[in-house]
Amino acid sequence: MVICPFCKIKTNFLYRVDGFKKPLEIYQCPSCKLQMQDITNPDGFYTKDYFEGTAEYSYFDERKYFRYCEFVWKARLKTIKKFKPPPARFLDVGCSFGGFVKTALKEGYDAEGIDISPYVVEECQKDEEIKNRIFCSDLLHYTPNKKYDIITMIEVIEHLPEPNRILKKLYDLLNPSGLLIIQTANFDGLQAKMQKNHYHYYLPGHLFYYSKKNLTAFLKQAGFKEFIYFHGVDFGLLPKWKKMSGFIPPIYFYRYLRVGFYHLLSKITWGDFALTSSFVLYAFK
Ligand SMILES: [Zn+2]
Repeated sequence: MVICPFCKIKTNFLYRVDGFKKPLEIYQCPSCKLQMQDITNPDGFYTKDYFEGTAEYSYFDERKYFRYCEFVWKARLKTIKKFKPPPARFLDVGCSFGGFVKTALKEGYDAEGIDISPYVVEECQKDEEIKNRIFCSDLLHYTPNKKYDIITMIEVIEHLPEPNRILKKLYDLLNPSGLLIIQTANFDGLQAKMQKNHYHYYLPGHLFYYSKKNLTAFLKQAGFKEFIYFHGVDFGLLPKWKKMSGFIPPIYFYRYLRVGFYHLLSKITWGDFALTSSFVLYAFK
């Protein structure tokens, strides 16, 4: 039986997602509409193979493309600066090889990162710029000696079990009027609704699937007061294209066009309606 961690009620079976070694079973809460997998213990996903991009379900090794990823990190920091300029205290949760932390440091932030993987944290210690700024911890057990002004969770929240405790912990880790940034998919978007069990965000490590509406409600319950929404992402199209240029040769120009097209579609919204499901939420304490 899969219980909604927020409503504490039994969820209903929604989809079976094929295409993995073990098919995924997706359940949905009848009250808050939160979707979730029936996985009680996610440990074991975040191995060396995951981070180097060789596991069945994996991350890509951003270190090889730092120069290109930096375009996106810088663009995002430009937006963050409008709300919280440097030298604010900054924490990237699920920081992986620490690229975003490194860029934030260069931009003048007092930046740190945490990751659950001993492998990536060890790798970070080899990098002089971020050495001693990246800690191996899961979020719930992380106890820094000072609070933060900005916490970022870029494509991380969907991986974390016990989301109700996670959101309260994030609130506690922030200074008054602190800013929490969450990037995840919005399952109220038409893209997710229409593609159903074929939607690409259904992945083995993704335990919870939020919507703009229920994520806002959960954050309010945790104490957050003000919200700003970015449909698509919180930066423009150009940095995305510049990042792509690091691994996609110009001959595949149609892929650039496709990204541009999706970027435009993501801007088509009306109240809670959104055409695509990419989504970034800024929540203020
Ligand atoms: Zn619920």
